[in-house]
Amino acid sequence: MAVQLDPQLLEILACPCDEHAPLRVGSPDDPSADVLTCSSCGRRFPVVDGIPVLLLEEALPVGGTAPRDDG
Ligand SMILES: [Zn+2]
Repeated sequence: MAVQLDPQLLEILACPCDEHAPLRVGSPDDPSADVLTCSSCGRRFPVVDGIPVLLLEEALPVGGTAPRDDG
């Protein structure tokens, strides 16, 4: 079941990335996932007990793969 967030809350939430882009419920792969996906950078943030964890350190890697160290 998808995350149930107040639309007004969702409106004021923004990704902590440089773009501060709006967030969408679910992920591109799984619209019912308990995550919020940034509409700009694509980072996914877990929602724990209904509370979005909007921390870059907690964000799930884009594409679901481990982040690469490109040096
Ligand atoms: Zn972002």
